[in-house]
Amino acid sequence: MTVACRACGREIPEGSAYCSFCGASQSPVPRKLYRSTQESKLLGVCGGFAAYWEVDPTLVRAGYAVLTFVSGILPGIILYFVLALIMPKR
Ligand SMILES: [Zn+2]
Repeated sequence: MTVACRACGREIPEGSAYCSFCGASQSPVPRKLYRSTQESKLLGVCGGFAAYWEVDPTLVRAGYAVLTFVSGILPGIILYFVLALIMPKR
């Protein structure tokens, strides 16, 4: 039995984790960026990115804090709230 690749549409063996042609993941649940409800200090934006990238939320927060500081604080704060608006809550 074969199924069509989710990315390139070519026939690959059923149950394959990855396409042997283009390497696309065949996971039935595509990863989506959500605001995290469990891992949230403010609005869950950093926790959501942490879940998406499968990294420690503290690392994301630390990285975001550094970026915010380096960029002059205000753009980072505005970006945070824009992300919070556009990212759906899980
Ligand atoms: Zn493919």
